[in-house]
Amino acid sequence: MIDSHCHLADEAFDADLEAAIARAQQAGVTGALCILAAGDEAEAARARGVRAKWAAVRFAAGVHPHAAGAFAGRAADAAQATRAHAAAFDTCGVGEIGLDYHYDFAPREVQREVFAAQLALARELDKPVIVHTREATDDTFDILAASGGVRGVFHCFTGDVAMARRALDIGFHVSFAGIVSFPRADSLREAARSVPADRLLVETDSPYLAPVPYRGKRNEPAFVSRVLEALAAARGAAPAVLAEQTSHNFVSLFGPS
Ligand SMILES: [Zn+2]
Ligand SMILES: [Zn+2]
Repeated sequence: MIDSHCHLADEAFDADLEAAIARAQQAGVTGALCILAAGDEAEAARARGVRAKWAAVRFAAGVHPHAAGAFAGRAADAAQATRAHAAAFDTCGVGEIGLDYHYDFAPREVQREVFAAQLALARELDKPVIVHTREATDDTFDILAASGGVRGVFHCFTGDVAMARRALDIGFHVSFAGIVSFPRADSLREAARSVPADRLLVETDSPYLAPVPYRGKRNEPAFVSRVLEALAAARGAAPAVLAEQTSHNFVSLFGPS
């Protein structure tokens, strides 16, 4: 199986990166997409270590909505930072990018401009996008529609059936994280059942959002097996079949390595 979204270059893995990679491999994780924050040079240095230790890791980079505030009035510079990271890490996607109106760490207008500028870059580079959206559904779809056609994935999906339908209607994939294993996530599991098998991805979003039974602990790519089990249970599918399907979907979205 492939962890389609993790932050393996986060400092949370400083102490045990090699062991975390070994545990992932032992759990049957054959690849991972490591999300990088464009412009973060400290993280970039750690990412070179990740690349050296795990050849099967691929990278994506973008300016996260939380970090958009630094680019107020200069969204083009955010796209430039993403472009530089894309070259340095041979990225297979642009992201994570999007809108987060829950935390509002950056002014919403700036988030929208930075999101739009990176969508334009994704079109130019012909790369799929990894979208982060929270409490900003309508604006997210409006900006995606205005971008003139990008492909990609809604990562760490937390919406309902109707929102999944909107994502599918514009050709996007939908990625589920550990939240799908949480006891009270019934409406999310209902949404998970509504997504066709060929549009599903699984992810950890580690070091955040550990699935049951690791909830509250640091998350890591090995635990994508738990996400996959929870998603399979929600869908009444065999985990092995879902593992193969989601790995196949990952390659069809991001291309062969
Ligand atoms: Zn995110
Ligand atoms: Zn993330």
